[in-house]
Amino acid sequence: MIALKSDREIGIMREAGEIIKEVLAEMEKSLRSGMTTDDLDRMSEEMILKAGGEPAFKGYHGFPKTACISLNEEVVHGIPGEREIKDQDIVSFDVGVRLQGYHADAARTWVVGNADQKIKSFVDSARGALAKALKNYQPGWRIGDLSAAIQSYVEAQGYQVVRNYVGHGIGREMHEDPQVPNFGKPGQGPKIEPGLVVAIEPMVTEGHYDVEVLENGWTVVTKDKKYATHYEDTIAFLENGFMNLTGDLGKEF
Ligand code: MG
Repeated sequence: MIALKSDREIGIMREAGEIIKEVLAEMEKSLRSGMTTDDLDRMSEEMILKAGGEPAFKGYHGFPKTACISLNEEVVHGIPGEREIKDQDIVSFDVGVRLQGYHADAARTWVVGNADQKIKSFVDSARGALAKALKNYQPGWRIGDLSAAIQSYVEAQGYQVVRNYVGHGIGREMHEDPQVPNFGKPGQGPKIEPGLVVAIEPMVTEGHYDVEVLENGWTVVTKDKKYATHYEDTIAFLENGFMNLTGDLGKEF
């Protein structure tokens, strides 16, 4: 069942999103080779608590940390630890915040240091896919229109979208209906109505989209060990458009 949100609920989620924006900006500024993924995780947790929020991933189905940090061939759900970040690593940072019982969720992927243009454009393809979906959005769309916009953008660049993991509704729960796949057909799926809030999160692979889960039960990696990139924002659809609660994409709407 899809729980449409009131303006009041969206307002609280917007505040949760503001905390995430600050965390993401700080992570991007601080990220450098030699740090461990735990360093980033600890910084983000401190910031969230100081801002009055709660780290929503911590304890979620037993996840032990504040952020999911996934490097290189890792797609999502990487567990922060003692691993040292190296020059040219591709670092995906995904974080959720709960505030007054409501959630916001966002992810960014950065390259450490100076990578070649080919890697940079690959990493940027997940952001580009979300940007395109939001730019094309028209009132009356269904979820499948978002999915198809993301998929066609990614595949036109010669990359693939992950099938096994999808975006999701968000609100009182971190994961609510509807699912928001990064693949699909225009005109299909639930209708996008005012009050729908979803985390849209293109997960893109440089090679084949097949993924598997490591023995730790969490970390999702590409089967062919080629790179992955991930970009996510929490988007609230309104009467005449939408509001990006966790980032700047789509502001031109
Ligand atoms: Mg998410």
